[in-house]
Amino acid sequence: MVKSIDDLNMNGKRLFIRCDFNVPMKDGVITDDFRVQSALPTIKKAIASGAKVVLASHLGRPAENGYEAKFTLKPVADLLSKLLGQEVVFVKDCIGDEAEAAVNSLKNGQVALLENLRFYKGEAKNDPDFAAKLAKMADLYVNDAFGTSHRDAASMTGVPKVLGQAAAGYLVKKEVEVIGKALKDPPRPFIAVLGGAKVSDKIAVIKNLLNLVDEVLIGGAMAYTFMKAQGKEIGSSRFEDKVTDKKGNVKDIQAIAKEILALAESKGKKIIFPIDFVAVKGFDFDKRAFAELKVTDHLEDGWEGVDIGPKTRELFRKELASAKCTMWNGPMGVFEIPDLAQGTLEIAKIFADITAKGAMTIVGGGDSAAAVRQMGFDSKVTHVSTGGGAALEMFEGKTLPAVAILDA
Ligand code: AMP
Repeated sequence: MVKSIDDLNMNGKRLFIRCDFNVPMKDGVITDDFRVQSALPTIKKAIASGAKVVLASHLGRPAENGYEAKFTLKPVADLLSKLLGQEVVFVKDCIGDEAEAAVNSLKNGQVALLENLRFYKGEAKNDPDFAAKLAKMADLYVNDAFGTSHRDAASMTGVPKVLGQAAAGYLVKKEVEVIGKALKDPPRPFIAVLGGAKVSDKIAVIKNLLNLVDEVLIGGAMAYTFMKAQGKEIGSSRFEDKVTDKKGNVKDIQAIAKEILALAESKGKKIIFPIDFVAVKGFDFDKRAFAELKVTDHLEDGWEGVDIGPKTRELFRKELASAKCTMWNGPMGVFEIPDLAQGTLEIAKIFADITAKGAMTIVGGGDSAAAVRQMGFDSKVTHVSTGGGAALEMFEGKTLPAVAILDA
């Protein structure tokens, strides 16, 4: 168990809460406020406990050292003021005399939001000098930015090091507890559902999942990479062969897929692939258009598999009906297009159904979380992770630096 905001005596103290306000923004308008809404319980607890609340976050990837208008957190301060029903003071810099003066003039229960931490390169580099300047504005530290907890940044690990203390906010506490339970002591059977485009992104997670789970269901374009490696027909579906990674190394994904299949067999773990498909001809993703669509058991040349078919949905439902623990990452098809989203939405439905029957269900962020939210099922599953990348790293078996530093 990690120490949480509930364990802190915050009355009259400056409480620095590292949030994840990395919201999608178009022309200065927030297009999805999920992350801001998710942060409210922790912020409200701090207000109710009489803390002087100092909120900090990054937004986007500013290229330069210094202010860039399109990455300002000002719209988040305005939204927070509305949602909390009290003014959230927006501080135009995240460090320095002005920021310190603004924070030091807060009264108990008042809230300030600092400007984007990434306007300083010291944030990503975890520069000790930058961390010390941030820490000057805090008596106590809370991490509620799970989606950034795999990053060794100044506001994630540097500030708690200076303060010698770190507690989890409610979001981080739930992430660590639920994912931690699935990693250490999952109710069984434990079945993983994986999808999305690329095996190459998920090699480490698939390998580690084979140690943890009893069975893996695979959909999305990822399935075709494995099916190709097994010599099955995939028509003109998307699959991976040789892939150059970020460091310029060429990886033979077909060979890796064969290795993973052999590993599963040696461990006696079942990997289940789609048995039918929604296939299209003349597909143009950018135009969200295709010439023809059919449901088929056989993918012929010219046809591209873009979703799992109805028999596969039934098969996955049957397999998952016995699961006591599940984790899901990645869409079953090109879910951005409504005609090709049925398989992905069906997994969301199955997850809601088996949760109602007592299964522990974890949705691993990103596209899968979006599908669950689209169905309005957030509260019908055990846990929707707020950080896809961070959750995957935990399932890879890695320790997240900003979680490791939390007080026990
Ligand atoms: P990832 O980032 O690897 O999780 O992949 C997510 C993307 O995979 C989404 O944009 C989907 O549209 C895409 N995707 C899923 N299934 C397919 C498929 N069968 N063919 C092409 N793209 C797919």
